Amino acid sequence: MKALVKDRAARGFVLKDVPEPTIRDDEVLIRVRRAGVCGTDVHIYEWDAWAQGRVKPPITVGHEFAGEVVRVGRLVTDVHVDDRVTAEGHIVDGRCLLCRTGNSHVCPYTKIIGVDRDGCFAEYIAMPATNVWHLDDAISFDIGGIHDPMGNAFHTALTAEIPGATVLITGCGPIGIFAVGICKAAGASRIIASDINETRLALAKRMGAHDVVHPTEAEGVVKRHTGSLGVDVVVEMSGVPSAIHQAFALVRVGGRVQMLGIPPKPVEVDFPREIIFKGLTIYGVVGRRMYDTWLLMTRFLRSGQFDPSPVITHRFPLEAADDAMRVIKSGEAGKVIFEVA
Ligand code: NAD
Ligand code: ZN
Repeated sequence: MKALVKDRAARGFVLKDVPEPTIRDDEVLIRVRRAGVCGTDVHIYEWDAWAQGRVKPPITVGHEFAGEVVRVGRLVTDVHVDDRVTAEGHIVDGRCLLCRTGNSHVCPYTKIIGVDRDGCFAEYIAMPATNVWHLDDAISFDIGGIHDPMGNAFHTALTAEIPGATVLITGCGPIGIFAVGICKAAGASRIIASDINETRLALAKRMGAHDVVHPTEAEGVVKRHTGSLGVDVVVEMSGVPSAIHQAFALVRVGGRVQMLGIPPKPVEVDFPREIIFKGLTIYGVVGRRMYDTWLLMTRFLRSGQFDPSPVITHRFPLEAADDAMRVIKSGEAGKVIFEVA
């Protein structure tokens, strides 16, 4: 089969012919139809310091996908050939204390497809049946293929109290834009979205933000709409240090900061001033909660109260991986997907 492979410790991917994956008795083989491209894939493509420390080539990359099941292992009872599915890309051990207490998203033994084992930028992928998530007939493979990053946004937004809340979303990359739509659907009373990129602010507006602002305007707009108090919730989706400080500054006393964005380096924080004496609650987001995030996501999609389709702005075949990477790095894209089959 054809697959996009990180074949050696250097920049780039190569499209190669590789053997079809074999499946274990508890796994299924999925024919990939759509696959989402993510910042993580760009890090692996560029072969930056993080990628060099984590990824062991050769490996097939990609971790966001949807497709149809073509083979099931002997022990699999609840997934069938032809089922339309997506999957949780974090493969956990299921046996550690965290997994057994409902906290698999922080399982210390997590292996991520496309990072620690072969991923989905390929015609077929093998997945443990427990990671498979069925798609409603009405959900397209396009939308199925972006459940992973949408799930990040659902996890981030819905672990805060959103109904009626005033919310600042810092960073309108694909995940931040999803978060705008989710907060809107969940009944936030004011959604202020900030970014430095006009294209992305326009997408945030389209997804339901009441105000879209440049970071330098955020303070004034937040004060105007909150009687100078600050917002109830900040959803930090940029990973940019100045945005993180702004999150602590513009959340109200006693408010909550949901932290998804990953700063590339340690960030110095004035704990007493920025967090402790403001009485803040900080929540660190890792992936998606298994599987309550997935259930909520399915319900929001099924009801039509959340429609992520405007966020997908570019599509490429696997052959055009270099173009896909370029578009993402340009910042002009929302979500970029591969049309695999
Ligand atoms: P992205 O890089 O596309 O989006 C970040 C956005 O922040 C960009 O649009 C950028 O223009 C904007 N930005 C830059 N400076 C800003 C500022 N000062 N104020 C506000 N916005 C600013 O990334 P993405 O794919 O949407 O992911 C968002 C973040 O979440 C990234 O840091 C990513 O690494 C991280 N992430 C975390 C998890 C997790 O499980 N915690 C999972 C996936 C991604
Ligand atoms: Zn575990």
